Amino acid sequence: MKESFLVAFGTDDGETLRDKGHFGDSQKFGIYKIGKDSVSFVGWRENAKVEEDETQIHGDPRKANAVKAVLKEVDAVASVEFGPNIKRLLPVKACMIMDPGTLEHAARVVQSNLDRLVLEIEKGEQRKVLDLRDLSKEGSGPLRIAIASGKGGTGKTTVATCLAQVAEGLGHSVTYLDCDVEEPNGHLFLKPEITERMPVGLPVPKVDQDTCICCGECTEICQYSAIVCVKDKILTFPDLCHSCGGCVRVCPVDAIEEVPRTVGTLEQGKAGGIDFIHGRLNIGEVMAPPLIKAVRERAKNNGNVNMQIIDAPPGTSCPVITAIGDADLVVLVTEPTPFGLNDLDLAIDMVRELGLKHVVVVNRHEDDNNSAREFCNQKGVEIIAEIPDDRRIAEAYSRGETMVSSLEEYKGILEDMYETIRHKVKGKATEAQRDKVKKQV
Ligand code: SF4
Ligand code: SF4
Repeated sequence: MKESFLVAFGTDDGETLRDKGHFGDSQKFGIYKIGKDSVSFVGWRENAKVEEDETQIHGDPRKANAVKAVLKEVDAVASVEFGPNIKRLLPVKACMIMDPGTLEHAARVVQSNLDRLVLEIEKGEQRKVLDLRDLSKEGSGPLRIAIASGKGGTGKTTVATCLAQVAEGLGHSVTYLDCDVEEPNGHLFLKPEITERMPVGLPVPKVDQDTCICCGECTEICQYSAIVCVKDKILTFPDLCHSCGGCVRVCPVDAIEEVPRTVGTLEQGKAGGIDFIHGRLNIGEVMAPPLIKAVRERAKNNGNVNMQIIDAPPGTSCPVITAIGDADLVVLVTEPTPFGLNDLDLAIDMVRELGLKHVVVVNRHEDDNNSAREFCNQKGVEIIAEIPDDRRIAEAYSRGETMVSSLEEYKGILEDMYETIRHKVKGKATEAQRDKVKKQV
């Protein structure tokens, strides 16, 4: 396998990617040699001047051939937009679609996604367009799509795992984060190979009774009764401790030290091309937010990812807010029953309070039941997809299979849902929104 690849970027001004119009209409192409450790500019290639036959709705093959001849030895091409001739280009070159920006930046983005590009090049005639949009937006991080619901059992994980598979199938680099740490089940469907495991702990106080002078300062500051004075002895209750560190700070004689208490385990691995991270809270443990934070932090270090699918815990309390607080879009999954809509109501209030963009997916939709539509209409929330109440979906679920992997006819619904979501999150959550949420968590 080659160590570096020639990539052509379509441009009119010689500095930025052509941002309006098709790749084949670019005035010239900037050719870069891109390897894992280096990016170098090779030179310019003027585009061929072909009088295009505009009447050919599937593209003029003469023009496609002319562009192929100009870029003969090139392995891959990149552009903001392609025309219908992409069908003629794909069998001979890997094609990448990117956000507008400088050629230098675009070349760096391709370098950081070189593994994915190599996979596409190797597929030959089976290639699909490699979608590097969002990741290639200068200065932007990954898109964060949170899947939440007011109650458990509505199909949240079904939607989250399917979205991850669809996004990966469309060429995105995806991390699936199962933040439902009390009952993670995304792994049952994505079947990841776990390659790393690590305990996640919290600092809790340990009192040196010989040094303690029983002043009571620590018991007064603790809001959770996690450190109390009983018969002139200071006792700690680690399970109640929120690790705020207050008691350590107020102790006048440094009698308190912090020791770790394990609350759960973080596991990371790969599910096909999907990066997979989840947390498993210890049995009987109630401190879910620290483990959820650890899962989210772990995903931040995954630099090449342009999409995070966050499977949130059910409900509307602290763990959910920790999981979804900085999402660019929250997809609320509901079912058209009185219980489902009641909990959706609470979930809508929560995301509105947090100032987060949100849409609804109705699961187990029946044609003669309009209750979810009427409810969302009243609340002014958009339903972006309705997943039918189909017994085969439940059967696939019970076998540990997703709709994407087992029911081909639903792939279209899910791909449409995914594209709608991408469209909705074009304006990402602002830093101001995120700060607001951080204060509330
Ligand atoms: S760290 Fe905070 S919550 Fe824990 S015992 Fe000390 S004061 Fe209480
Ligand atoms: S603050 Fe320190 S000295 Fe005072 S009761 Fe607590 S542990 Fe003992």
